Amino acid sequence: MPMHQLHIRWREPRTGNMGTLLEVQRLTPLLPEHLMLAGQDLLAKASTLFPDGVEQGYMELQHAFHLLRQRPEHSGQLAAIWSMLERAGWAANFKHCWHCNDTINLEHNMMWYQAHLLCMNCAHNHGIKLSSGCLKSLYGHLNREGVKLSVQHIKIWKTMIDTILTSQPMTT
Ligand SMILES: [Zn+2]
Repeated sequence: MPMHQLHIRWREPRTGNMGTLLEVQRLTPLLPEHLMLAGQDLLAKASTLFPDGVEQGYMELQHAFHLLRQRPEHSGQLAAIWSMLERAGWAANFKHCWHCNDTINLEHNMMWYQAHLLCMNCAHNHGIKLSSGCLKSLYGHLNREGVKLSVQHIKIWKTMIDTILTSQPMTT
């Protein structure tokens, strides 16, 4: 029963770690019907970002669903994925250079190069230019409701996410 809250009861095992399942009840769906597909995509990405044995994952996915519910579907999906990338340590925040750690604070243009957000000094003119306005939009959209993204900014954000997801070694 994917994408639903479940009520589960089980008996603790006397030995080993396999308990006995006593009861499962399906409770409320985690997302409205029209967001189920987007939610399944987030679930799949969460299982890569927070693999078995990693304690994190549950709260991070809940937060991603929260972002998805509160933003327009096409950009909400990106905000949700980005929030999980940040929490899994695959992405850092928009306010710093990911190389020298200088605080840029959305005030200057930056560059997107090899799946990293770089200040102009570190980028040496390599990569895709991200204007201060674009960075402010992405940051705003991620952190507040009601900040709309332009088609161009959505496209750039999607490219950033895709390069991160393809440049990281998969742990599974
Ligand atoms: Zn730098």
